[in-house]
Amino acid sequence: MTRVTLDGVRKSYADTDAVAGIDVEISDGEFFTLVGPSGCGKTTTLRLLAGFEEPTAGDVRFDGEVMTGVPPEDRGVGVVFQNYALFPHLSVRENVAYGLKFHDPPGGVSADERVADLLDLVDLSGLGDRDPGALSGGQQQRVALARALAPGPRLLLLDEPMSALDAQLRERLRLQVKEIQSELGITTVYVTHDQEEALSVSDRVAVLRDGRVEQVGAPREVYRQPATRFVASFVGDNNLFDGRVVGADDSRVAVRVGDRQFGVAREARGDTAGSVQSVAVGDSVTLCVRPEHLRVVGGSNDDEITAKTTNRFPATVRESEFLGATTRVHCEWAGRSVVLSHDDALSGDVTLDFGPADARLLLD
Ligand code: ATP
Repeated sequence: MTRVTLDGVRKSYADTDAVAGIDVEISDGEFFTLVGPSGCGKTTTLRLLAGFEEPTAGDVRFDGEVMTGVPPEDRGVGVVFQNYALFPHLSVRENVAYGLKFHDPPGGVSADERVADLLDLVDLSGLGDRDPGALSGGQQQRVALARALAPGPRLLLLDEPMSALDAQLRERLRLQVKEIQSELGITTVYVTHDQEEALSVSDRVAVLRDGRVEQVGAPREVYRQPATRFVASFVGDNNLFDGRVVGADDSRVAVRVGDRQFGVAREARGDTAGSVQSVAVGDSVTLCVRPEHLRVVGGSNDDEITAKTTNRFPATVRESEFLGATTRVHCEWAGRSVVLSHDDALSGDVTLDFGPADARLLLD
């Protein structure tokens, strides 16, 4: 197991900072995910860990040891890429054994035993003699994983390993990868642009934007307590309203959005307090409300929404999107788009409401 440190790591190309200064500490045995939109520096960060690139500034350290100048084959990393990169002319077994070409198997076992163990681990024991071309995408990716794990690496690096697979297979494979990772207890850095995937498998995620870390935290924390407007909008759906703080006491903050006033609890439900703690009267803020926290309280009856201190506001339904388990309803409120999760389609004018402890305020 290995602790990984990125200390002020930068990687510049001619006119771009692909990685613009990253400080992160990844613990022994942690499943750590780099997530963010295309071009935010995820792959470059992974390549810096693997040793395919050297940082322009800063250090990569494994267990405190600076890795600068250590070539990839001497770092003890296993890498799985998006496109499998299996050898088509070698059988599944030979592909996995290739991982042992330059390293002895760990634990004093023979190469044959090691390969058999790994095929068992990735649930492909019966398919050792097949050509990779005769396997499904998910199976091929499991071969690639077994090959990367064969020499017993101290660190596993996964670069969008699921992105070529269909949705159902992706879900199954990510559970398998997570299980294997916990069983081996191997420190893992996973790259994805898929925020749902990131939330589902990780111990912690780092949300990247323009080569920098916007927020690092456990999936729940990043989802429930986004630190910035970017994180609030990138991780899951969110309604973001521009507002101004008009009142504050020990337990609540009053925020004006358009012609409405909303109350937001200083302490969010079930979570540690976030930036709501630090806002003051007059601050410009973003009010964030998740679609699943918006409730429909009735029709467009003005009487119901006159009480200015409740969190009710009127909206007009534009479209209902049936998603199976839930329906995503797109509405408009005085020029603002509003999205909510509901158990059925809606139409016409509605009144929406949210709990004071379910909203979050971000300082602009
Ligand atoms: P994606 O999800 O699209 O793979 P990413 O988050 O992995 O994106 P990177 O591939 O790390 O992003 O790229 C980050 C930035 O650095 C991009 O603007 C990219 O064009 C640039 N970049 C990456 N590699 C090089 C290179 N070898 N030369 C010049 N620019 C590069």
